[in-house]
Amino acid sequence: MELWKMIDKDEKRALTKMGMQTMLAHFGDENIHGAVVPPIFLNSTFIHESYEAFQEGKGYYYSRQSNPTLEVLEKKLAALESGESAKIFASGMAAISATLFHFLQQGDHVICSVPTYGGTYGMLGHYMKKFGITVDFIDFREMEHVRAAIKPNTKLIVCEAYSTFFMEIFDLSAVVAIAREHGLRTIIDNTCASPAFLRPLEWGFDVVIHSASKYLGGHSDVIAGVVIASEEIMESINQMEYPLFGGALGPLESWLVARGLKTFGLRMKQHASSALEVAQMLAENAKVARVNFPFLPSHEQHELAKKQFDGPSGLLSFELHGGADAAARVINRLKYFKIGVSWGGFESLVYSPGMSGPNEQFIDTIYEPRMGHLIRISVGLEDTIDLIEDLKAALEWA
Ligand SMILES: *Cc1c(COP(=O)(O)O)cnc(C)c1O
Repeated sequence: MELWKMIDKDEKRALTKMGMQTMLAHFGDENIHGAVVPPIFLNSTFIHESYEAFQEGKGYYYSRQSNPTLEVLEKKLAALESGESAKIFASGMAAISATLFHFLQQGDHVICSVPTYGGTYGMLGHYMKKFGITVDFIDFREMEHVRAAIKPNTKLIVCEAYSTFFMEIFDLSAVVAIAREHGLRTIIDNTCASPAFLRPLEWGFDVVIHSASKYLGGHSDVIAGVVIASEEIMESINQMEYPLFGGALGPLESWLVARGLKTFGLRMKQHASSALEVAQMLAENAKVARVNFPFLPSHEQHELAKKQFDGPSGLLSFELHGGADAAARVINRLKYFKIGVSWGGFESLVYSPGMSGPNEQFIDTIYEPRMGHLIRISVGLEDTIDLIEDLKAALEWA
């Protein structure tokens, strides 16, 4: 099985000149009393030597603004995404909200890829209406539709590198080119592809956002988010939305994400190789009508996937000939794939949008009839053979 180059073409990392795992092990950590793991600074405030030292404006003041434990993580995350600067937030949604509010003002228009994460959809499609901000949700597989959606008041393009139900992808370079032509800013949610396999800043995007609750943390024990961009953009968010919205991550949670990151490259390799084997098995199973995984050669977006990603994500979905009833039977028979939302952790998970009732985003779209049929799986770090056997046995009931 070929996994392409995966993670190893790190030579050109501007910031670190190290491989990913080497960087995660050594870069950004401060040596404090020789502790091999930087300690957790659980303090809210920081004291100063003198009146004058306070006035100098150096060092730390208050943990809603900055904290050394968060900075260790921010340095690693910026390097991981080939970015200049990063800021860690209390959740992926805190990161997304702060960034949208940073770039938008009353009367602006946004173009957003569809399907999109539910929180992003809620924020742009509903909440932003309060401020007279409008949005068009567009299928980014058709670049002409993106171009046609641009209005005189369009400010932002918001998209996801790899959508999380149907695993659709789009032409990254084409989106950046359209945005530059029209002076628009580009924000990309890279949670699902992960920086192991895609670094959108290298493709010309302005801002990368992650839910660190997924692959970056990787252990299903922390909710966190991150924004990565140029010094200029991050400095501005750091002055305004970061302290004003109060979305800083706690130091303990930050330490947990940093700990999770120590094995990020290794985990992603395993997620990728297992997901590819699982997808191949599903594609050959007679009960399965379709596998949504562009890393399979039979998928209609395979060439684009190969061009854009260094390896597969561990998240995929499939649809059954037997429809929603069969999906329910299979889900109930699975042993190792536990039923739950979220993904990207050590444990395998299964979910169907049919379990959550109608989703406004998909009503009257090409996606609506497929939602109940869809089984989404997050391929965890269990032994691949056990996961394959589990799925095969459950599929007998489809
Ligand atoms: C989970 C998720 C988010 C939101 O992140 P939280 O950490 O749960 O707030 C945003 N985007 C994508 C693609 C996600 O999967």
